[in-house]
Amino acid sequence: MREDRFDLPDVDAFTRPYWDAAADGRLLVRRCAACGLAHHYPREFCPHCWGEDVAWEGASGLATLYTWSVVHRNDLPPFGERTPYVAAVVDLDEGPRMMTEVVDCTEGELGVGMGLEVAFRDGVPVFRPRGGSRTAVRASMG
Ligand SMILES: [Zn+2]
Repeated sequence: MREDRFDLPDVDAFTRPYWDAAADGRLLVRRCAACGLAHHYPREFCPHCWGEDVAWEGASGLATLYTWSVVHRNDLPPFGERTPYVAAVVDLDEGPRMMTEVVDCTEGELGVGMGLEVAFRDGVPVFRPRGGSRTAVRASMG
């Protein structure tokens, strides 16, 4: 991890396909061939049945908002420059629940169950309202 950035991943050999895809604008999940369920974050074993026959799969990038918190203070760079921001938990259409950030959306527009689609900032998946942003795209969006 870079000393001056707390928002970028520590990539290892196992998670490299995930981050390579994200850098390419694609979201991956892991799916188990034994029970058929997808999971996230990526694990080498299925967290549902402990099966080992688990593979990467391209996700739709679609999700719904499960819950969120508006963060007004964070001393770790670069989060301080982004406040207020929306830390969120979303339900991917493939099933897994994912920790992320919702962008391009004002606090008043947020609602449980709202449709979201994946976007990428510095190769990290974030989510925005489905069908394009409702507010001006932030300067920080790449
Ligand atoms: Zn399984």
